Amino acid sequence: HLSKRLLKVAAHVPLNARLADIGSDHAYLPAYLALKGCITYAVAGEIAEGPYLNTLHEIRNENLTKIVQVRHADGLAAVEKTDQIDTITICGMGGPLIRNILENGKGKLRMHPKLILQPNVGEAQVRRWLNINRYHLTAEEIIEEDKHIYEVLVAQYQPEAKTPSELDFQFGPFLRKQRDPAFLKKWQAEAIKLKKVLKQLEKAREMPLAQQQKMQNEIRQIEGVLSD
Ligand code: SAM
Repeated sequence: HLSKRLLKVAAHVPLNARLADIGSDHAYLPAYLALKGCITYAVAGEIAEGPYLNTLHEIRNENLTKIVQVRHADGLAAVEKTDQIDTITICGMGGPLIRNILENGKGKLRMHPKLILQPNVGEAQVRRWLNINRYHLTAEEIIEEDKHIYEVLVAQYQPEAKTPSELDFQFGPFLRKQRDPAFLKKWQAEAIKLKKVLKQLEKAREMPLAQQQKMQNEIRQIEGVLSD
């Protein structure tokens, strides 16, 4: 049984993929895909001892050791050339961490695998990394589960693609157009939060004018997108 969030990620993994799932904790995603016969091979990478042991346990329990290789490694160091990975999933972490894993593991991206990323926060930073590295978003999802709102970013190497706009980086080119109820809810909440912070800082009279204006601009930008 996979969470709604990881089901959304799984739906973007191509049939017969050779998958690397980085930060796999329990390996639920590769185990699910292998049991369904959707993937031919997977590497499940984990940096932390406990989650690595969970992953190992899950794969042995499900009799999937022939399909899923469990590796104790930092980020894309889990991937070897001979694995011939064509799809990478990195899910359930902050955007900055996902970006660092991609940046530090650039050498492992020479075959230009499809990337399916699920940052919990800081999505804009992930979109910027993708753009700088000639990855182009091909789909985005937004879902609400257990009071959390999650985004899924799907990207392919596409050097010819045009550079996204500032609003695309911030809000997502697909999400901005789809206007899913979860998208509206997320940004309404963000605007309310920013307004509260701004009010408190104004009261304390400690905020430099430039910072105040920056926050006001952010709020205006969000309200602009919401009222589009
Ligand atoms: N991917 C699963 C999911 O989405 O449900 C598990 C998410 S869990 C919150 C994040 C996992 O990433 C943790 O188990 C953590 O140990 C692992 N992690 C963090 N940094 C990592 C890195 N540099 N390389 C590999 N794994 C990492």
